[in-house]
Amino acid sequence: MKKINIAISSCLAGNQVRYDGGHKRSKYCLDVMSDWFEYLPICPEMGVGMPTPRPPIRLVNQGDKITVKMVDDPSVDFTQELSGYAKAILPKIRDVSGYIVIRNSPSCGMERVKVYHENGNPSNISSSGIYTGELMRLRPELPIEEEGRLQDPKLRENFINRVFAYNEWQNSVLKSPSIKVLIDFHSRYKYLIMAHSYKAYKELGQLVANDGSKSLPKVIADYEMLLMTSLKKVASSKNHTNTLYHIFGYLKKDLSTEAKQEVINVIEQYRKGIVTLIVPITLLNHYMKQFGSDYINNQAYLNPHPIELGLRNYL
Ligand code: SF4
Repeated sequence: MKKINIAISSCLAGNQVRYDGGHKRSKYCLDVMSDWFEYLPICPEMGVGMPTPRPPIRLVNQGDKITVKMVDDPSVDFTQELSGYAKAILPKIRDVSGYIVIRNSPSCGMERVKVYHENGNPSNISSSGIYTGELMRLRPELPIEEEGRLQDPKLRENFINRVFAYNEWQNSVLKSPSIKVLIDFHSRYKYLIMAHSYKAYKELGQLVANDGSKSLPKVIADYEMLLMTSLKKVASSKNHTNTLYHIFGYLKKDLSTEAKQEVINVIEQYRKGIVTLIVPITLLNHYMKQFGSDYINNQAYLNPHPIELGLRNYL
């Protein structure tokens, strides 16, 4: 399988680009995920010409806006440079399917970065880093996650889910845009979307069945935004249970009474938190191989990412 291009904060990739001359090498990204991900390291601070080592910077609340300034000399302001770098980097990251950033950085943090008052005291507000905040504004559909949050199994699965879905979106619909390719994509992702948001599942279905009032580029742009926003929502076990029963519906006429009961028991065990999601998925996949149609066997929900990553093993 071709590796997926992922942008990453350069210090997470092990490069010595931090203000103190060090790095923050991520074992998870580099040792576990590198079989699937090809990394593009980016350091916005180095990108705007800052040296390493360098004086530290921090976010400052100026009332009407958040800026980023040098700690020791607040007259030195990097806000324009760092937000401008987010615009400048866009062509370079056009074909990446995700971005992993480091937390707490006034440049790269995605959320909850500490903000200070102009007098140097910590304020009670937080923000995204200037560079990543601007990038999220410019590319709202791009899966972005903080490396620290990838320690949480649900957030990790959610991010990797989005990366694989977005990669397929880029390589199918964005590469060869047509209503047929869009319908094929939607058919394959229906149940995955349902697990994240039943409302989005309905709305995306309506978008695909365009009544002709929207142009194809508009349908694709609207679909992309709604798809990626809905996948960002962590799927609840209630939604997964609902989706599992929908998929089970495709097997009902072919399974013996005992086999049906076995599937129901396992889905119920998942619903009650006794077994992890991979258990009913594995059982459904087992019966799908024998009795399932191409349509249902092709559902992204059944195999959204490589099984070797063990991502559906949480309660
Ligand atoms: S700007 Fe970003 S990539 Fe560069 S050292 Fe700071 S956190 Fe790491």
